[in-house]
Amino acid sequence: MDNWNTRTKLVHAGTRRSQYGELSEAIYLTQGFVYPSAEAAQARFDELGDDEFIYARYGNPTVAMFEDRIAALEEAEAAFATASGMAAVNGALFALLEAGDHIVAAKALFGSCLFIVENLLPKYGVEVTLVDGSDLSAWEAAMQPNTKVCFFETLSNPTLEAVDIIGVAAIAHKVGAKVVVDNVFATPIFQRALSLGADVVIYSATKHIDGQGRCLGGVVLGDVDFIRGPLEMYLKHTGGALSPFNAWIMLKGLETMDLRVRAQAASALTIAKALQGHNKLAKIIYPGLEGHPQHALVASQMEAGGTVISLVVNGGKDAAFRMLDALKIALISNNLGDAKSIVTHPATTTHSRLSSEQLADLGIGEGLVRFSVGLEDAGDLLADITQALNHA
Ligand SMILES: *Cc1c(COP(=O)(O)O)cnc(C)c1O
Repeated sequence: MDNWNTRTKLVHAGTRRSQYGELSEAIYLTQGFVYPSAEAAQARFDELGDDEFIYARYGNPTVAMFEDRIAALEEAEAAFATASGMAAVNGALFALLEAGDHIVAAKALFGSCLFIVENLLPKYGVEVTLVDGSDLSAWEAAMQPNTKVCFFETLSNPTLEAVDIIGVAAIAHKVGAKVVVDNVFATPIFQRALSLGADVVIYSATKHIDGQGRCLGGVVLGDVDFIRGPLEMYLKHTGGALSPFNAWIMLKGLETMDLRVRAQAASALTIAKALQGHNKLAKIIYPGLEGHPQHALVASQMEAGGTVISLVVNGGKDAAFRMLDALKIALISNNLGDAKSIVTHPATTTHSRLSSEQLADLGIGEGLVRFSVGLEDAGDLLADITQALNHA
């Protein structure tokens, strides 16, 4: 299996077949497991074998298939699946940090990630510094002897800024800090954060891994000592487990993820190129465009520009709303990575909790529209965006 390529791993890695030899992965919809004898129960609690389970909050065969498949894809030693992306972020940060520690995080974080970093961690005695993630000298300047974690998203939401993973890892590892990357926007298809020096990678499986808007899920990947040690200890006792049914959806999502994500990114690039210079747009942000200010960094750590485009519409919120309301294919929602194209106005929805100063600081203007490119025909999507921009 180690020498299988991505698509083969996504279809076959981690499969556990029962004695019935089912073709499709089985859903083990059970919270508990039965032991043949009291002695066997005792033995299982004493030492859990690879194919043995006790309770679904700790592990379940369908969930284990999902964990093993994504770990194979990422070439990670181990993975722990969670009920949502936020359970994964929360689990990783709380398992790594304790009172007296310091975390440096990029300020361009997903709203709930920012809540954990800014509001929850300080309550438990963790010191926090937020930096401009794209500026390596800011990471360097923020480091302290008690810095234990550097945390960031790359690409960031919704301004699609990249953070130099190799650069931050070099700075963090000098003081023994762990690098935790939220790799959702880049996807495991286009960016292998672990191989670039990250210690822990997190996904919201809700996005590209499901890819069809059905279930919440998440996963934390890293080395065996961390995943099977403090992370598993934290998650199994605090209840962030992924349900077996949702794990099965995610397993089936992985089978087609490479095809989907590549098709979505190809459409995103086509659309971004075609919209360049459009007179209703102040700016088009797509990391796969050569004009993106970090194009060289993006090209060095990502295989493609991703599945999301951000457009800055001239005329602020009113113009952006007119465009959203005129779209006939893309749906107004807040998911991303879905088969259906989804359009979001971050300033009034996903990022409405931020103050106007924070929004300005992050470059999230009133005209900014986030467009998650789906699996529809790229020509149809472009025609739809173009007609909607006429209303902006
Ligand atoms: C959606 C998302 C999350 C949270 O995932 P949920 O599955 O909604 O809990 C975290 N980080 C990023 C970048 C996301 O897009």
